[in-house]
Amino acid sequence: MATETITEQEHLTQIRHYLHQHPELSDQEFATTKYLTEKLRELGYRIITPAGLKTGVIAEIGTGKPVIGLRSDIDALPIQEATGLDYASANTGVMHACGHDFHMTALLGAAEKLAAEQLTGTVRVVFQPAEETHVGAQEVTDAGGVDGLDAIIGFHNKPDLPAGTIGLLAGGLMAAVDQFTVTFHGVGTHAAMPQLGADPVVALAATVGAVQSIVSRNQDPQQAVVVSVTHIEGGSTWNVLPETAWFEGTVRTFDQKARALAQKRFIEIVNGQAAAYGVEAEINWQTGPDVVDNDPRLTKIVAAESRQHFNVVAPTPSSAGEDFAYFSQRIPSVFAFIGSHGNSDWHHADLIIDDAGLVPAVQWYYFNAKRLLSELA
Ligand SMILES: [Zn+2]
Ligand SMILES: [Zn+2]
Repeated sequence: MATETITEQEHLTQIRHYLHQHPELSDQEFATTKYLTEKLRELGYRIITPAGLKTGVIAEIGTGKPVIGLRSDIDALPIQEATGLDYASANTGVMHACGHDFHMTALLGAAEKLAAEQLTGTVRVVFQPAEETHVGAQEVTDAGGVDGLDAIIGFHNKPDLPAGTIGLLAGGLMAAVDQFTVTFHGVGTHAAMPQLGADPVVALAATVGAVQSIVSRNQDPQQAVVVSVTHIEGGSTWNVLPETAWFEGTVRTFDQKARALAQKRFIEIVNGQAAAYGVEAEINWQTGPDVVDNDPRLTKIVAAESRQHFNVVAPTPSSAGEDFAYFSQRIPSVFAFIGSHGNSDWHHADLIIDDAGLVPAVQWYYFNAKRLLSELA
């Protein structure tokens, strides 16, 4: 038994290190797609990747209902790896800094275990592209890749949780993401004669402060909401007031009401500030992934199964976004955090995650796939 566990660990470690060394950017995961497709074919999976999907792999095993989806993302980030690992990225400027190599390895490991069993129903593995750019889940959905699923589960590794610890909660686990750009159009003039212009810089400065009142004065204090202005630009020298100035940033919320309120107040405040300072505001609001919303009934089932094997904790929801939300809006779903015991956090160039988390992650998919096949029969 002990030897078997070590063998599985070594097997999984080898897969992850290979994937870690060969990261690819969002929607360009061609070699990764080929690697996964070959592995799944060897295991006896039917490859059913829709023609409309350029990268990513979807495959099934078993027959009939129910159809349970297991999802992993496959893309990496435009980050120069600084871990110094012997299996560090061989692809300059690209790194699996979000641990999607860990997710793929876990799902491949589970696919292997499930292939060795007689299943009642169907398991569909969904290796989706382009999570980091928040378009992959929608690409898969649009191509028909999740049609007919009765449920779908997935996870994100969590560097601040120990290996073998599972974080689960019903409802909002990861935030809805919105993105904004605001340009103030004024009238440029000599810095010494502001009365001859309409200054977009003063309007911008006042607005950056004012939008913080959305969190402190408009939202329910029990609701987590983030408004971050991350980039501001205006002007080019010391003695000219520019004609335009702009800023961009993001809003993170955990429910529809808070999300709608944040957008409404943002637009009102920006337009109000523009009016107050005599400039014109041009607002571009882009809607990103919705909140990752765990189905209460399915979460109960997955939590009960998970508690039989792992230490299950109620995690703090993350204000990061996750495009698994596109699935969770359409299909009853559960998204978990699985401990990967890292030295730093997601998207850091020095992030090293612990391979010891792989076996529990494989088991999490495996046990819950089987449990859902029987519960949803
Ligand atoms: Zn990420
Ligand atoms: Zn990620």
